[in-house]
Amino acid sequence: MLIPDLTKETYNLILYVWIGIAIITFIALLNITAPYGRHTKKSWGPQISNRLGWIIMELPVLVVLWYFVASSIDRQTPITWCMIGLFSFHYINRIFIFPFRLRTKGKKMPLAITGSAVLFNLMNGFGLGYYFYAFADYPASWWYDPRFITGIILFVAGVVINWKSDTYLIGLRKPNETHYVMPSSPLFKYVSCPNLAGELLEWFGYALLCWNLPAWTFFIWTAANLVPRALSHHRWYKARFGEYPKERKAIIPYLI
Ligand code: NDP
Repeated sequence: MLIPDLTKETYNLILYVWIGIAIITFIALLNITAPYGRHTKKSWGPQISNRLGWIIMELPVLVVLWYFVASSIDRQTPITWCMIGLFSFHYINRIFIFPFRLRTKGKKMPLAITGSAVLFNLMNGFGLGYYFYAFADYPASWWYDPRFITGIILFVAGVVINWKSDTYLIGLRKPNETHYVMPSSPLFKYVSCPNLAGELLEWFGYALLCWNLPAWTFFIWTAANLVPRALSHHRWYKARFGEYPKERKAIIPYLI
């Protein structure tokens, strides 16, 4: 298969540049709200269906990751299989289940958003995939390492919070409805976006359990996307619902 032969130095340099782009993106997203979901806008050019947009946006990361994994089956160990499995588990939901659960009748997203997310996900797939293909080298004792154990616990907690809150939000509408309701479940007591908070926790746990540069890079990118998105959602809720709870933060209880 066609895979470049990168030295660890070159590979790391690519990821450091990618982290630099994440920081620039974070600053940009604090000022420009990405126009999809409740923030969708027609002024961003051609649009596609929201559901299809989600599938196209998220599919590349799994395809690229598995391209590298399929090229290095012999190199993988039970520990790397566990890491690859956890990542794939999240994205199987995000690509093949989540878009079909959305009550998103008639909603569209700009192709520009889909396209930029595809690039983002191609790069993330490369970062992790190439690492498992070329560099991953964990001792068998990694199963008992406190970073691995804590990371797994946080990852699972993040998945549960993310799924439960996405499920609650999706259930606020009946099929074919398009309106918004003020969330009042206990999950939303401290933050407006427990689903985004859960996802952030999940990838923090993943970076901890993998303890490698691409997983931390992925976490930094996730934060660069999710923190500004949560702030935009939070501002939107406060503007829309006059009686919005004052103590509720955007994504991190008591802080942000
Ligand atoms: P939202 O919370 O905006 O929306 C989730 C779903 O619930 C949508 O179908 C939305 O409808 C609906 N919904 C949300 N709030 C309400 C409400 N108050 N009343 C009625 N329906 C509501 O989530 P995001 O679009 O921001 O994110 C969706 C998922 O994708 C999350 O799990 C998030 O963690 C993940 N994500 C991951 C990113 C990453 O970089 N890893 C980036 C962005 C999201 P509608 O679409 O019509 O608004």
